[in-house]
Amino acid sequence: MKIIMFSVRDDEEEAIHRWAERNHTDITISQDVLTPDNVDLVEGFDGICLQQRVPIMDPLFYTKLADFGIKQITVRTAGYDIIDVNEATKNNLIVSNVPAYSPHSVAELIIAQTMRLIRNLALFDYRAEKQDFRWAGLKAKEVRSLTVGIIGAGRIGGTAAGLFNGLGATVIAYDPVEREELKEIVTYKSSQEEVLKEADVVTLHVPLLEETIGLIDEKALSQMKPDSYLLNASRGPVVDTAALINALNDDRLAGAALDTLTNEEHFFNFDLRDQELQDENLKALRKMPNVLLTPHVGFYTNIAVENMIDISLNDVLNIIQTGTCENRVN
Ligand code: NAD
Repeated sequence: MKIIMFSVRDDEEEAIHRWAERNHTDITISQDVLTPDNVDLVEGFDGICLQQRVPIMDPLFYTKLADFGIKQITVRTAGYDIIDVNEATKNNLIVSNVPAYSPHSVAELIIAQTMRLIRNLALFDYRAEKQDFRWAGLKAKEVRSLTVGIIGAGRIGGTAAGLFNGLGATVIAYDPVEREELKEIVTYKSSQEEVLKEADVVTLHVPLLEETIGLIDEKALSQMKPDSYLLNASRGPVVDTAALINALNDDRLAGAALDTLTNEEHFFNFDLRDQELQDENLKALRKMPNVLLTPHVGFYTNIAVENMIDISLNDVLNIIQTGTCENRVN
């Protein structure tokens, strides 16, 4: 059994070797991004595993994989929009993904950033940088005094709800699908507006869909309390960034923590230390001491990375050996 993995990062290699040893499988590690131009790299292998931002839309790519005897395309990410699932299906290729590798990874980032916001830690850092060690005006809020509003209480939002509940916060949520198992710890509201109006901390965990693009726009921001915080670790376009910047500039919001931003593919995960930033919104947000930016790292923890490897490779193996797997999408 021979599997080839593409776009492998150094930090994934240990987990890959552990899986290979456990499963007596030969794994070839490649840093290359798989494209229609280098698809011949797959010849001679039984299975493939990808993670990349580059979409593969050329139909020839899929027929070539089938010609090489490949049975599947497995991505070790939740999103699989880089794959043309119709073309894959036409060529009898099973597509699989990793829908949940560790909801805790993102939920814990939200807890960490909420604590930084409500303790004014970035503002203290900002003052300390200038040798200003006064604490006047920066009285913190205790988490148990807060109402946390979750928009989208699915896997990650539901996990965040549990963690906030454990810390003593009152947790409210809006989600068109209400989950019975959350009802002991979450009070569901019948609209997003109710959550925005009541919450001291609003955290977004919706999928990126046509109807969630710009979900938090000028109107939604105007429904939030002026001393409340917005956190977004879902997808950048869920928030209208320009409207958020306006709200922050006008003190209509106390602060924000953003792990995702529209157009992030041009700056997150790049070293831009010696360059002038091109993105005006990013430039504006960086100058705000009450805005916390992280470069889409909610997913990036020890357990999540190990799960992405294990779950995806288990599926590759299962498809090859049994013709199906747990996380197939077609
Ligand atoms: P999920 O499918 O388990 O949950 C999403 C929830 O949102 C569902 O319960 C759904 O009913 C609800 N929802 C859909 N539309 C809604 C709306 N308009 N208003 C309110 N709720 C709505 O998804 P998940 O695994 O919890 O992932 C949530 C988000 O986190 C996704 O956008 C995903 O891309 C993102 N994510 C980010 C990172 C990161 O590194 N920052 C990592 C993984 C996932």
